[in-house]
Amino acid sequence: MHINSHCAVGIIIASIFHPIFNFDLFQFTAIVFAAFFMDFDVFLSKFAKDNNHRMLITHSIIPSIGLLILGLIILSPVILICSLAYFIHVFVDCIDWGTNFLGIHQKPFGPKFLITKEELDNLDEILSKYKIKKSFFDIRYYSKVGVLIAEGLLFGAMLTSIILFAMEFSLFIILYLLFLAFHISGYLHLKKIEANHQS
Ligand SMILES: [Zn+2]
Repeated sequence: MHINSHCAVGIIIASIFHPIFNFDLFQFTAIVFAAFFMDFDVFLSKFAKDNNHRMLITHSIIPSIGLLILGLIILSPVILICSLAYFIHVFVDCIDWGTNFLGIHQKPFGPKFLITKEELDNLDEILSKYKIKKSFFDIRYYSKVGVLIAEGLLFGAMLTSIILFAMEFSLFIILYLLFLAFHISGYLHLKKIEANHQS
């Protein structure tokens, strides 16, 4: 999913555990970041198989296992919750486009509801129809009702959990809104480019 929804998941997780562990700002931030930060591996796409950042080791369960082991060794609830947040990101990404889940896959792994097997096999041909390759992914993403419902539900769950359990961290919603604005503006921009391209 898009980074705003991963951010929402991080806020939900951190908020739910907050009444138990009474996080400080650094700890709360660490958990939220653990839920989305790996998406910045997009800047390392050129090192990834098929230039797909989701095929990098950062989009596998390996870092979350590392965090799990570290958290168990030093008995840190915060690191264990970061591990959970990281794992959920990779799991969720398997559902839409797939990831390198176990770190051993040659093709994105998962149910991949946003792309069919045929499309994945002929991806270069499909992407060649677009002026900008990213357009295919953004337009497909926002055209799916399931995605819109999931984004809406996560937004609602984020608001509810932070208001109920972690009101003092409510400014984190601004981070979510910045990511959402980034994706929506990018999508509208690409849609315009592609409309001109096809006409
Ligand atoms: Zn991701």
